[in-house]
Amino acid sequence: MRRLRRCKIVATLGPVSTPDEMLAKLFAAGVDVFRINMSHTSHEDLRGRVFALREVAKRYRRPVAVLVDLQGPKLRIGALRDTAVTLSPGDRITLDGDPTPGDASRVHLPHPEILVALKPTDTVLVDDGKMRLHVVSTTGHSAVCEAERAGVISSRKGVSLPDTEIAVSAMTPKDHADLQAALEIGVDWIAASFVQRPEDVSEIKAIVDGRALVMSKIEKPQALTKLDEIIALSDGLMVARGDLGVEMPLEKVPGIQKRITRRCRRQGKPVVVATQMLESMITAPVPTRAEVSDVAQAVFEGADAIMLSAESAVGNYPIEAVATMDRIAIEVESDAVYRSIINAQRPEPEPTAADAIATAARDMGDTLEIKVIVAWTSSGATAFRIARERVGPPIIALTPYVDTARRLAIVWGVHPVVTKDAEDVDDMVDRALASAAEEGFALHGDRIIVVGGVPFGERGGTNLMRLAQLPPE
Ligand code: PEP
Repeated sequence: MRRLRRCKIVATLGPVSTPDEMLAKLFAAGVDVFRINMSHTSHEDLRGRVFALREVAKRYRRPVAVLVDLQGPKLRIGALRDTAVTLSPGDRITLDGDPTPGDASRVHLPHPEILVALKPTDTVLVDDGKMRLHVVSTTGHSAVCEAERAGVISSRKGVSLPDTEIAVSAMTPKDHADLQAALEIGVDWIAASFVQRPEDVSEIKAIVDGRALVMSKIEKPQALTKLDEIIALSDGLMVARGDLGVEMPLEKVPGIQKRITRRCRRQGKPVVVATQMLESMITAPVPTRAEVSDVAQAVFEGADAIMLSAESAVGNYPIEAVATMDRIAIEVESDAVYRSIINAQRPEPEPTAADAIATAARDMGDTLEIKVIVAWTSSGATAFRIARERVGPPIIALTPYVDTARRLAIVWGVHPVVTKDAEDVDDMVDRALASAAEEGFALHGDRIIVVGGVPFGERGGTNLMRLAQLPPE
């Protein structure tokens, strides 16, 4: 089973996508990567879903990737005596460390590190920005805030602090426990929420220790100031537009999305564009024109993957949403404008054998009619570098490791296939040709490019490129 697009689809699991048969249908409709959001998933459910997805992979004989999204330090106010208080513009309310239920004059903020970090004029957003306050004065243990507009604050609502760098790790005790559970089950990607600085990525990478790849979710303005370092340390990025759009003015989000997408490509790291892509399809079988345009923009930009959240987790039309993304991506990628946009952002190769071969493969693919580039890869690195070139033909990644194949499922243009190690160069070429035919990429007489390293299996050993042809009928 091959996809007819280069851009991948990530779908978030939730109540509507839990039955095993639904997982198979979502995969068949086009999902390449399944996202499990630990904000709403117990360890038992995590295990059940991963097991069910491994069964889907067996049934379709395709690698299916699992992305576990850690909740991160989601900040919340404490309880109120009445369930909600209403504030008018100019009204003042104090955030403090007192755990007793709050009222219109004060409310508990159970995060002492924030009470220390807040400074006068800092913005405090409550409930996804529905209530906007700014800090008037602080003591280090409390902060007096003023309402900028009328609104309601209810018990335990989320708090966002766009101006304040908080001295908390991107990993809470819950995240540590969820991460251990995810690693024990053997998931493929871990998404870290609310990454603020490069050290946050180093911390989680040190724990993961190569057992999965780490994706940094960019949803805090603070992360943008050190974006290149965060990309360099991460294995991939997610443009988490939900929280980003709370913490930043909404009109800035499209530009940030483009900047992140381009910088990720420069570093050869996969990037996922997420949140509200087909939001209206939660309740309607067809998307709005604006949503189609939003999905198309991400594909035109060359994003590795586009993501469904509530559409596939709790919506009424999860299969239709996946099929809609699939159709949009196929259409965009065949549009004459697509290639010119993709080529205009082509990054300079780095002075490595892998990049020299990746650019040579791209040039050969542009010069000759090449049906597929077949890359032998053990860690996946060769396939990542060829994908960075956004080559014309599709890419098959042949690997003896199922975890490498699953990790590659999110990468632009890569069709991963698990196979046994190649014995020598002839075997490498013969099996690449066989795979190109079996996987439906090439027919009798078609030409393919084979890329690999000899001796096979050495990481970073890409040193070979061959033009090969399937025998005529
Ligand atoms: C987001 O904020 O866009 C996002 C993907 O994160 P979450 O769904 O965890 O809020």
